Amino acid sequence: MTRPGSGARLFAVYAAVSLVPVVLLGVALGNRVRTEIDDRALAEAVSRAQTIADASIEPVLSHSDIRSGLTAAQRQQLAALAAGLHGDASVIRLRIRSNDGSIVFDPQHPEAPVTPFTDDEVERAAAGHPVRVLTTVGADSIDGGSTTGEQAIETYVAFHDRDNKTVIGVLETYLPYAPFGRAAEASKRRIDELLLAGLAALWGVLAVVSWSVTRRLRRSARHNDWLAHHDVLTRLPNRLAFTEHLKGCSDRGKDFWVSVVDISRFHQVNDTLGHRTADEFLERLSTEMRNVLRPEVLLARLGGDQFGIVVLADDAEIDDVHRRIALAAGSGFPVEGITLTAEVVIGYASSTDPLAGSDEFLRAAELALHAAKQANLSSLRYEPGLDHFDPAQLALASELGAAITAGEMVLHYQPKLDLAGGEVRSVEALVRWQHPTRGLLQPSEFVPIAESTSLITPLTNWVVAEAARQIAEWRQLGQRIRVSVNVSARNLADPELPGTILETLDAAGIPAADLEIEITETFIVSDPVRARAMLTRLHDAGIRISLDDFGQGATSLVSLTTLPLDELKIDRAFVTDMNQSAERRSVVDFVISLGHRLGLTVVAEGIETEAAAAELSAMGCDEGQGYLYSRPIPAAGFVAWLDHHERMIRARREAVDATLEPFARPAAATPSEGASEAR
Ligand code: C2E
Ligand code: MG
Ligand code: MG
Repeated sequence: MTRPGSGARLFAVYAAVSLVPVVLLGVALGNRVRTEIDDRALAEAVSRAQTIADASIEPVLSHSDIRSGLTAAQRQQLAALAAGLHGDASVIRLRIRSNDGSIVFDPQHPEAPVTPFTDDEVERAAAGHPVRVLTTVGADSIDGGSTTGEQAIETYVAFHDRDNKTVIGVLETYLPYAPFGRAAEASKRRIDELLLAGLAALWGVLAVVSWSVTRRLRRSARHNDWLAHHDVLTRLPNRLAFTEHLKGCSDRGKDFWVSVVDISRFHQVNDTLGHRTADEFLERLSTEMRNVLRPEVLLARLGGDQFGIVVLADDAEIDDVHRRIALAAGSGFPVEGITLTAEVVIGYASSTDPLAGSDEFLRAAELALHAAKQANLSSLRYEPGLDHFDPAQLALASELGAAITAGEMVLHYQPKLDLAGGEVRSVEALVRWQHPTRGLLQPSEFVPIAESTSLITPLTNWVVAEAARQIAEWRQLGQRIRVSVNVSARNLADPELPGTILETLDAAGIPAADLEIEITETFIVSDPVRARAMLTRLHDAGIRISLDDFGQGATSLVSLTTLPLDELKIDRAFVTDMNQSAERRSVVDFVISLGHRLGLTVVAEGIETEAAAAELSAMGCDEGQGYLYSRPIPAAGFVAWLDHHERMIRARREAVDATLEPFARPAAATPSEGASEAR
């Protein structure tokens, strides 16, 4: 991602770096121009010296004069020339040299004879290469080598014989540097100013160009970043953004849900309406879905017709999110003049599922989606077993919804007996599925499917309604039997549940006290706050609450005191093994006394032997449930069983009464008879 401020930094670096070559260029150019100006000054000095040589020396001297020595007149003429040049300050010094370097005439020693001397510079000038040197007057060895003299341009130019134009000597001159220097310095200053201004302008232009390039680069980096993380068609985050977000949530240790939403039969839209319309369809659909989600919820397009959702557990209810998505897709939206709807299938997983990492969550949700599609379900939550989801199970899942409405569900009832007297005051309703081809299916075969889909809601509603109808029917037959129904932890997701239950009881015309709700420990731990609110509402209305399978999970004992409970059912694993394990017996004993101390009715489930029943009774357990008394049986069978059971108790009681008759007072009625009448 492009970091804010990185553009300005990039520009600053560019500006600083580009300044270096600009400065170097300035220095090089400056030096070059200065050298050129100096060269021009020197060349001008040479040309002046040449003019003097041509105009003033050549007319005076001939080849023989140089060779045989100057005449006095010539010396006088040359001395006058030197004096004149010196006087108007155009030449500081001059000397006439022969081609080999000997001094032929020096105005400072006008009478001196030819002084032999060798000099490279003279020789070079005689050979046709005028010499110019920036020096000081008196710096030459011939003049004593002093470096303190006036700054001057020393030149050597050849002069020729008037007749045959051969080089006959060399004019050595020292021209004052100052007039050339002033002009050169002025030129240099102008050049420096121009250079500075030009280079500053160049750098400015470069800076502007670089600023605009940087901005364009930044914009393009931002755009590339956007492209890397978004889907161009729907403008939603893409799979990469989705997995990064998921990883972030997972790394931060947040609880979240991951859902994968598949658009059913999208290929049909593609095939029948064409790609363009299908694209617009996806675009509109994404907008509709995005609009029903809160901003905190991430909606991404994972590719094709699949979308991903990440919901933080604190942000929203996943079922609610799924409902909204399904509604948004299904409520219809215009695409190219026609109203289209979409159906969605959703697979989802929770960060609380035992999975290894963020990748696993997505995979789990995809797996659940796959299973949901195979099973023809609208949504399915991932379960560890789903990886090996049995195709037969999936087929069942696809039939379950219709089976509930088609009346294929049946309730079997298993009595709870008073362990002391044997009376039956309540029964547990256990659902079965009378499958048209597979026969009677046990809850373990389909309740988990219902729990991993939204079908648990209609299933529980059906069980409650059927139980209420049965209670009413028994009441009409004169039997008042309370019925317990099992409510799954997944029913917590349905906020309507308490209202639905109360309305059902009302419609059936039975008191709330005739219904009991059995919840398990998972019901409490999955969402304690919601569980408590839901249970309190039901309890306040008069419905009894029973905590089922107690001891199996990890309920905090505190919840026993904070939840509105009436009954505690000891998990059958403890009860069935009680006779083989002293430890389990101790646990049962402990749970019975704990339940009693909290004012709860304690029920032992899974009683299979008389010995267990006797021991539980001795421990003070209130009620028992198990195969010893009856397996779960259909309502009709239950009535017959109850009739037989009551006759048995009566007979047993009569036998006891007969044994005790000699000792009994005449008018005493037994409490169990009273309980039996109460029904
Ligand atoms: P649960 O609520 O603990 O029900 C008691 C289970 O123990 C029943 O199994 C019952 O048949 C079995 N059982 C009763 N006495 C004995 C015994 O002496 N020995 C043995 N070995 N088992 C005994 P079932 O009917 O297969 O139900 C299993 C579970 O399915 C139930 O456990 C309950 O959690 C769930 N379930 C049943 N009906 C429903 C329902 O309508 N809704 C929901 N959400 N869950 C249900
Ligand atoms: Mg139960
Ligand atoms: Mg149980």
